[in-house]
Amino acid sequence: MSYDINKIRSYFPVLNQQVYSKPLVYLDSAASTQKPVQVLEAEKRLHNEYYGNIHRAAHYMADKATADFEVVRNQVKLFINASSTEEIIFTKGTTESVNLVAFSFGERFISEGDEIIVSEMEHHSNIVPWQLMAERKKAIIKVLPFNDKGELLIDKLDELITPRTKILTVAHISNVLGTVNPIKEIITKAHQKNVAVFIDGAQGFQHSVVDVKNLDADFYAFSAHKAYGPNGVGILYGKKFWLEQMPPYQGGGEMISEVTFSGTTFNELPYKFEAGTPNITSVIAFGATLDLLQEVGLGNITAWEEKIIKLATNELKKINEVRSYGEASKKSGVISFNHNKIHPYDLGMLLDKTGVAVRTGHHCADPVMQHFNIPGTVRISFGMYTSEEDIALFIQNLKRIITMF
Ligand code: PLP
Repeated sequence: MSYDINKIRSYFPVLNQQVYSKPLVYLDSAASTQKPVQVLEAEKRLHNEYYGNIHRAAHYMADKATADFEVVRNQVKLFINASSTEEIIFTKGTTESVNLVAFSFGERFISEGDEIIVSEMEHHSNIVPWQLMAERKKAIIKVLPFNDKGELLIDKLDELITPRTKILTVAHISNVLGTVNPIKEIITKAHQKNVAVFIDGAQGFQHSVVDVKNLDADFYAFSAHKAYGPNGVGILYGKKFWLEQMPPYQGGGEMISEVTFSGTTFNELPYKFEAGTPNITSVIAFGATLDLLQEVGLGNITAWEEKIIKLATNELKKINEVRSYGEASKKSGVISFNHNKIHPYDLGMLLDKTGVAVRTGHHCADPVMQHFNIPGTVRISFGMYTSEEDIALFIQNLKRIITMF
């Protein structure tokens, strides 16, 4: 495979630095990825040349900004193979996308006694909004469990789905266990019983090719900042069939067609769900991310990251005192682990002092911690720029810390 890791890393100069006089090893991409120069340049270009508020353009700069903003919507559409730009809604992140759908789908389609299935391995962002909706609508949350390897028990869906089940929500890839869930199989199973499916792609979009038409997903959400894009932008894909029937989530400018004190009519899709001035700069700069992903090829990134996760898994296995969580047959993006004596917070802090940036804690997935009866883990996570040297340095420093302890 020809994957020019040095060229890719040259797009991310921030990686080439020392922290505490040690070479930086950035293993926290699942929390947020670093941004390539292409994105930073796109932001600068917009502000130097043509920044203006969009969709109400009465002058050159606003007109150009509007056009570029809509170009990115079309890029996203092509990237995930949606049917139309009406199905691409810009939000501020995956969290807002889940809240939007939980609220709006809930308002329209959920009644007292209806059921929502949430997987046990979800991030809090994909649990709490559904709980809030269930409380408001007097609906019931049911949990799709996973086994100790970190694989969802898909067969359980046969008994979990009842005629009252309206929607099922599941992560594409777990942010703690790294499990790549068989989302196509889950969607097919759910659709056989007329259940809509929401996919939390916060850890999915950047690690695997997403084709929403092929998946037949009803909703797919992800965050630009976890996929080499700027902060403050989320993408929500929703099937037009659903979005057309769902009421607005927030009221304000842009989402209306006409406002009078006797009543308001709403704008067409996707604007009905985009109240107020969006994050113009970040959406436009996200276009540069998509260009980069296209140039490198998401398939190539997936293959490279597979090699990296295998390398790290094998090296960690050689350290007897370490236990990893999540041994699904298909994994991507992250490895969570603990040392049998060192608390994960201490280990994270010590690794930091060696230049290795990791994440520690419950990773906003308390139910996963409860499953394994642990307070937290150390999590290393990868991106397109993670090198074999990064893994070697991480393992070397981890071993040194363990010996010191
Ligand atoms: N879902 C998963 C699986 C995540 O990993 C995260 C963030 O870590 C989120 C949702 C929330 O994403 P954001 O904070 O960008 O809204």
